[in-house]
Amino acid sequence: MIDKRVAMVLDRLRGFERPKLRLEQYETPGELVQALLSVAEAEVGLEGARVLDLGAGTGKIGIGAVLAGARRATLVDVDEEALEVARENAERAGVLDRVELVCCDVREFEGGEFDVTVMNPPFGVQRRGADRPFVRVGLEHSPVVVSLHRAGTEDFWRARARELGAECEVVGRARFPIPAMYKHHRSRVKHVEAVVLVFRRREG
Ligand code: SAH
Repeated sequence: MIDKRVAMVLDRLRGFERPKLRLEQYETPGELVQALLSVAEAEVGLEGARVLDLGAGTGKIGIGAVLAGARRATLVDVDEEALEVARENAERAGVLDRVELVCCDVREFEGGEFDVTVMNPPFGVQRRGADRPFVRVGLEHSPVVVSLHRAGTEDFWRARARELGAECEVVGRARFPIPAMYKHHRSRVKHVEAVVLVFRRREG
């Protein structure tokens, strides 16, 4: 289990300046990052690990991984403004030397091999299927992917995992808070039901 102090540090970092609806820029609360990292810890062990964070946004997951003992985290996002905040957050958290920032569309990411991908990609609400390339690219670069998705997509992901030569297990559920920072949200905080999925590449 990852220490809750990691979550507390993350909750003090900066969020999205002007969240972009098109890119589904929602902040993951520290507690949920802590839960995702705890799954990664149980799967591969984070100490000394190389971690990939796809759709990293302001960097909470990747930075949290380094705070939890990872050797290095690579943060990939298509939005330069978000990555600028991520850079500042990494500096503030004192881990900038162990964080690499890559600005590109996830589909164009070319990196090395990682021990694990931990991510909260867009849920594909604004653009259907927006989360699909994230899982594929994650599995191309690491044997294990820990990821948050919209509840109700589990069957789709189990089938998709088989096509990708992997297995998919539902390991948790969460209510993902979406603050009313977008005009179409009427209530102050809206919740989206989410599932924590683990994808494991099948050997051979
Ligand atoms: N992982 C962050 C942000 C989640 S929001 C957190 O947990 O707080 C989803 C992120 O995916 C946004 O930062 C958005 O800019 C990014 N994104 C959306 N589509 C993308 C794409 N095609 N390639 C790379 N990043 C993308």
